[in-house]
Amino acid sequence: MWPLEPPAVSARHSFDTCVGNTRDRVRRELLAAAGDSIEDAGMRFRDAAQKGALHGLRTDAFPVPGIGADDAVRWVYKNGMVEGKGRSIYDELMRAPIHERCPMCGHGTVTTLDHFLPKKLFPALCVDPLNLVPACAECNHAKGERVPSSAETTLLHPYLDRIDQDRWLEARVVESSPLWLEFFVSPPNSWEQVLSERTKHHFERFRLAERFAAQANRTLAGIRRQLTSLLQAGGKEPVRAYLADEAETRLADRLNGWEGVTYRALAEDDTFCAGGWPQ
Ligand SMILES: [Zn+2]
Repeated sequence: MWPLEPPAVSARHSFDTCVGNTRDRVRRELLAAAGDSIEDAGMRFRDAAQKGALHGLRTDAFPVPGIGADDAVRWVYKNGMVEGKGRSIYDELMRAPIHERCPMCGHGTVTTLDHFLPKKLFPALCVDPLNLVPACAECNHAKGERVPSSAETTLLHPYLDRIDQDRWLEARVVESSPLWLEFFVSPPNSWEQVLSERTKHHFERFRLAERFAAQANRTLAGIRRQLTSLLQAGGKEPVRAYLADEAETRLADRLNGWEGVTYRALAEDDTFCAGGWPQ
């Protein structure tokens, strides 16, 4: 999970931008009149997020007054944001992740904005920038319309949760031929229990162990020839030194990035360094 800077655009400004150009006059006036409710909904959302209480929000408490949920999604999100004047806000949110990597998994390419709280259940938050998280198609699909049911099963929110300064992602070699790395969450002792549980839940929901292991195998396929040369020239220590060096460079940039963690796990495995890869 990669953190992102919270968007600077407010819930109210985003809503007003999205609905301001609605052609149908009656609908436009109805939407404009809902502005205060939208602002209030945005504040309740932020307040609950700050208190770690998103699971306590009731789905019936976030309507757009005078507009049904389906119509709100259609007129505010689809026509107003995706295809309307709010598109600039949409595009800005999509551009936020470094190298276009999905912040939910830290790996996939961003292709969409995911509603952290589903738009059909929380229509008043359908264009709230804090509720719009850039994501890859796989994470977007894996998350679906889920609503957090407890503090422990609330997914990590890239704008709000800051866990990247601590080391929490580990891997170990469980099978060297074919190679299989087991990735797992190992929370530091300083974390509160609920954060540890949330991180594990996030990891499982997005199937990060499997996805990272598949990527690790691709990485290995790319360096296999080089590892064999190093082994033949000088034995396992040059292999280990190379892997440790690659790990250090990557981990300095991203402490919990799967690439750095892969290199570290390989460097720490004696059997692997002695030639335990498919030759
Ligand atoms: Zn993703």
